[in-house]
Amino acid sequence: MASYRLNLNQQSNGDYEVHKDDCRYYPAQNYDYLGVFSACAPAVTEAKRKHPTKKINGCVHCATSCHTS
Ligand SMILES: [Zn+2]
Repeated sequence: MASYRLNLNQQSNGDYEVHKDDCRYYPAQNYDYLGVFSACAPAVTEAKRKHPTKKINGCVHCATSCHTS
């Protein structure tokens, strides 16, 4: 299990990225805490539920299986 945060700083491609707590890019500020999950998929689902207007994506480094663009 790991904690996940959504980085509220928009990426240059328009995405908002979900990070796991051991990621070097885990946001220290300007983030939304999503909760504790066993995998990135439910964390991304939660991020989309809380932020339906944002384009959510998994981090390419810590959530590779959830990274789509
Ligand atoms: Zn990450």
